[in-house]
Amino acid sequence: MTFENPIETPVESAPVDATGQHHYLLDWSEAQLIDWLLERGWPKFRARQILTWIYQKRADSFDAMTDLPKGLRAQLASAFEIFRSVTAAHQKSVDGTEKLLLQLADGGRIECVLLRDGPRRSICVSSQVGCAMGCVFCASGLDGVERNLSRGEILEQMLKLQRLLEPDDRLSHIVMMGMGEPLANLPRVLEALGVAKDSQYGLGISPRRITISTVGLPPAIDKLAESDSPYQLAISLHAPNDELRNRLVPVNKSIGIESIMQAADRYFQRTGRRLTFEYVLLGGLNDSVACAKELVSLLRGRTAMLNVIPYNPVPGLPYETPSPEAIHLFRKTLIDGGINVMFRQRKGDEIQAACGQLRRLREREPQVVGISHTSSE
Ligand code: SAH
Repeated sequence: MTFENPIETPVESAPVDATGQHHYLLDWSEAQLIDWLLERGWPKFRARQILTWIYQKRADSFDAMTDLPKGLRAQLASAFEIFRSVTAAHQKSVDGTEKLLLQLADGGRIECVLLRDGPRRSICVSSQVGCAMGCVFCASGLDGVERNLSRGEILEQMLKLQRLLEPDDRLSHIVMMGMGEPLANLPRVLEALGVAKDSQYGLGISPRRITISTVGLPPAIDKLAESDSPYQLAISLHAPNDELRNRLVPVNKSIGIESIMQAADRYFQRTGRRLTFEYVLLGGLNDSVACAKELVSLLRGRTAMLNVIPYNPVPGLPYETPSPEAIHLFRKTLIDGGINVMFRQRKGDEIQAACGQLRRLREREPQVVGISHTSSE
């Protein structure tokens, strides 16, 4: 990956009205928009028309909404803005992975990724600026958390990635695995995912294809189970015992694996959704056969799947991808132990696709702007 060859395209200029004068439409619910329309004498069905234009027909301006009366379009344009972020970087890798670094209206920066895998079009979306969980190997949390994203800021990532697709191509999967801890911003995440799964005017993505990834916050896992939003839950375990997990995932000190497993079991009982546990394999740290054996005992008997991800090195951090031999032995031990395991291929390495990496790189190289492609297309 290099930033040496930025294409001569200027970065998007900030929306003229990002000053707070205009309402941020993506933050508004359909009900709020209906109220606004009724107050101005427009029929309520216009709300659905407007939202369909934005979420399904990929309109970037009110002017493009050709079946709305001109007067309404003008009123909308003077009251609302659709997008609020500026694309500060856009990278594309040879495997079709594209990553956006978005600069929010207050200057906060977040990352989101589009992955193309056969017919799948998956997007990885951020829930916070930064992250408070402090996982030692992760780039997102190195500077702590700045703030939660709003509903609109979460949706804006989805829409900007959607607009990178060919017109007849559709998003198929969402993973809340970008920057931040989604369960620490659960109300906004659920609002945004409500639009993502809505097939009337939203993105129409089945909740079975929407995954929320968490460090494991038991009270929030319970809330998610109770909310009757049957999303897939992925729990970032990374260690089979508290001693090791406390070192890798410091927030674990006040939680503990046992209470996470209990919350996971409750989630399964309530939703019937098979759980995923994620395990980032860090060379020499959590990749031993002994760790694999402990994992087997921890997961045996649970309807769960283990997703093992070789570490994607973060510049400046002293962690490494395990050797192929270590990966092989780890995998063999899990399979022999009867665990349902998947070894995930890393994608988009050369564009720093692991969460938080691009943002950090750009902070160190603030002079680099524009769209940099990592491959000839
Ligand atoms: N906070 C949530 C979601 C964001 S992180 C969570 O902890 O699940 C999404 C996943 O990416 C987590 O499993 C995280 O541990 C993993 N991850 C973070 N940095 C990584 C890296 N450099 N290489 C591989 N996986 C990484």
